[in-house]
Parts: sequence; structure tokens; C-alpha cells
Amino acid sequence: MSTTRPLSRHPVLVESGVSTRTRVAIVGGGIIGLASAWQLLRAGCAVTVLDPSVGGGATNAAAGMITPSSEATFGHEALLAASIASAARWPTFAEQLSADSGLPVELCREGTLFVAADHDDELVLARQARLLERHHRSVDRLPSRAARRLEPALSPRLAGSLLIEDESSVDPRQVAQALRVAITRLGGEFRRVHARPQLRAGRVIGAVPASEAACPDGGGPCHADVTVLAGGWATTDLATGLGLHVPIRPLKGQVLRLRPAAPDVLHRVVRASVHGRFVYLVPRSSGEVVVGATSEDVGPDASVTAGAVHDLLHDAIEIVPELSEAVLVESLSGLRPATPDNLPIVGAVGIDGLVVAAGHGRDGILLAPLTAEAVLAEVLGQPSPQHADHFAPQRFSRTEGP
Ligand SMILES: Cc1cc2nc3c(=O)[nH]c(=O)nc-3n(C[C@H](O)[C@H](O)[C@H](O)COP(=O)(O)OP(=O)(O)OC[C@H]3O[C@@H](n4cnc5c(N)ncnc54)[C@H](O)[C@@H]3O)c2cc1C
Repeated sequence: MSTTRPLSRHPVLVESGVSTRTRVAIVGGGIIGLASAWQLLRAGCAVTVLDPSVGGGATNAAAGMITPSSEATFGHEALLAASIASAARWPTFAEQLSADSGLPVELCREGTLFVAADHDDELVLARQARLLERHHRSVDRLPSRAARRLEPALSPRLAGSLLIEDESSVDPRQVAQALRVAITRLGGEFRRVHARPQLRAGRVIGAVPASEAACPDGGGPCHADVTVLAGGWATTDLATGLGLHVPIRPLKGQVLRLRPAAPDVLHRVVRASVHGRFVYLVPRSSGEVVVGATSEDVGPDASVTAGAVHDLLHDAIEIVPELSEAVLVESLSGLRPATPDNLPIVGAVGIDGLVVAAGHGRDGILLAPLTAEAVLAEVLGQPSPQHADHFAPQRFSRTEGP
């Protein structure tokens, strides 16, 4: 389904026959709000991002894997197609962002090594290989010895591995910082405020502080032609306030950062099935390794638990034994914005002046370039990019009853 809209839905202001810039308010400055803001500014819009802690949501905890094939699961073909399309945009996205911000945006393009700890885990790998072969995705089955030539720090006791070459990773904190700087350089504004959309005469006319207490900058309303709700898992409450049903729930993920004694312990993303449990290890250019992650449907609880830290460390050390000597730099959790069908919700939602961009679950970093393009297309009244039409909010449409 195409999400093409007539321009009048989110109009460019016309005063005395002269077009002025479309004003866009973005509620939420995670990867999705920031990437959208940057693309809108590049297209000539005037943009304000409202967020009390820019980059502090799930984006701050994310590992940064851009791994459409490794994430693929049976029955989620639309997500795979969108993920492939977005991953293909990442090299240009990173290059342009680095140019606009003057900061490095490093894309590690060494692929993913998917390893099995025992013979049952090998069956998991075989299943993934079959799925990828069915979709004509490149995947190589490697004996463990070949895997250890690529990654010498891997345990010699592994049962098997797959190499998926066309995958990459970024550091989401580095990306968020570059987006912040690029947005400011292009004239975008930030307001450190907890906000909500403002409805007048059936149209959203911008965003206002959620309460006086939520407004430390003392500012009032932020008027806009288009308001984008990009508040991660909290978007559902923002939408409910307008009588809309946007089904997003928090899905907790706990993650660790380790600093190994030697640099370059790993060179690429390593995913592993360890006696039936999944773990991933993502190296950063700083030498740190991110180890993740749990997936817990426990509501908006961002605590870090001893059991999760134990399991993540146990599985990581089983795959890369020398990590037992690493310094545990950080343990944290983030709340992924999850939807019932694992696809994000991006587009107009039936109230003039309003666009939603949220619900990216496990894949918000991966899907950021395609999502930002879809938001831009929606604001400009242009056709949705290919594969982003699967994100249309109408698939869940019903208004909240009284
Ligand atoms: C442990 C973990 C690992 C992950 N690893 C990966 C990965 O490897 N690859 C990948 O692609 N994805 C990964 N993800 C998923 C990814 O982090 C999310 O999909 C992505 O961050 C969602 O981005 P977002 O901008 O929608 O939400 P968030 O990053 O959560 O940002 C939402 C922002 O909205 C703000 N906000 C909320 N309510 C309001 C309000 N009322 N007013 C103003 N601001 C508001 C918040 O302060 C926050 O800054 C991971 C997630 C976790 C938790």
C-alpha cells in the first residue's frame, strides 16, 4: 500500500504567494527522531527536536548491528526486505553524516560470523543458512578452523559457523552525536523538554511541554506544520492522548561493555548460539566489545539484573575465553519499542499535521536510513520509498474508544 499523500495534508506555508519553509516538530530525539530531523533539514525544512535527554533512550544501549540476514526469521519477509533496503543505504548515510557533522561515523563492514557452541546449536545455524539461501542471501558454511583463522580469539571448541559477509555495524552513540552536531550545523533546534502534541480544531499544530515541570527551558509551544511522534516505546502514550491506537510496548534488553586486555580481540560482529541461548559480541574501534542482549517482555523496567549479567558474561566467555580477563566497563538496559508484527509504524495516522515514526524493536539502528527517508517523503507528500510501505500505520488502525 502506498502512503502517498496530497501536499495539502502537511502544507508548506504560503504567505503572500511566497513559499516559506515547512516547520516540523519532532517529539523524541533517539536515532529515529534525529535521523528524520537531519534528512528534513537537508531537504530545506525548519526543524525542532523536543527531548529531555537526546540519544538517551534505546539508542544509548544499542549494539549497532546492521545485520539484516542474521536477524532474519521465518515468516518475516517484509521486515527482511526493508532491512536489506535500509542496510544498503548505510554507507551513503554514514558518509554524508560525517561530511555534515565533521565527525567520524565509522561503519565496520567485516560481516558477521555466526557460531555454534555445540551440535544442537549447529542445527540453529543450519536453519538460518537454509532461510538465507531461500532468500538468495550470501552465506558461507565454515568449519570451525576456518572461523578461527578469521577470529583467532574464538574458542577452539566451537561446533560450526556461518560467515555472512555483507553485514556491518556502527556505534550508535557516535552516530547520535554526529546527528546532533549535523542538525545544529544545518540550523535545527533542540528543546530539552518532555513534550506532547497539541491538537486544535482536529489538526495537530505542534508540540507543547507535557507539563510546566517538564519545561526546564522555560519555552512555550513549538508551532509546526507537521509534528512527528518519535518517542520510541513512549509513542503509544503520546498517540493515546490523541485518541489513536499505536500499539508499541517496551521490550527490555540488557547489554554489557567490556574492555579486553588486548586490543583487536574481535574484528567483526560475532553472533552465537550457546546451548540454546543467543549472545552477540560487537567490537568497537575503541577496542571495547559490546555483549548483548536479553529480550524481556516485562514492561517499562530498565533495571540491570545479576542473572542477566551472569548469563551474558558466561556465554560471551564460552565463545571468546580471553574475555574473562576483560574489564566490565558498563552494564545497562534499554527499552526497545516493539510492535505486534515486528515492523515499525511510520507514516500519517489520520490526523492532519501528524506523522508517527516509532516501533522499530530490535532494528532501529539498521532501519534508521530507510525510516528517515519515509518520514521525509510523508512530510513532502511524496511516494513512500520501496519496502517502507510495509510500515504503514493503517494496518493497526482503530481509534481508542472512550
Ligand atoms: C540492548 C539493545 C540492543 C540493541 N541493538 C540493536 C542493534 O544492534 N541494531 C539495531 O538496529 N537496533 C538495536 N536495538 C534497537 C534500537 O536501539 C531501537 O530500535 C532504536 O533505538 C529505536 O529508536 P527510537 O528513536 O525510536 O527510540 P529511542 O532510542 O528509545 O528514543 C526515543 C526518544 O524519545 C524520547 N521521548 C520519549 N517520550 C518523549 C516525550 N514525551 N517528549 C520528548 N521526548 C520523548 C526519549 O527521551 C528518547 O530519547 C537495540 C536495542 C537494545 C535495547
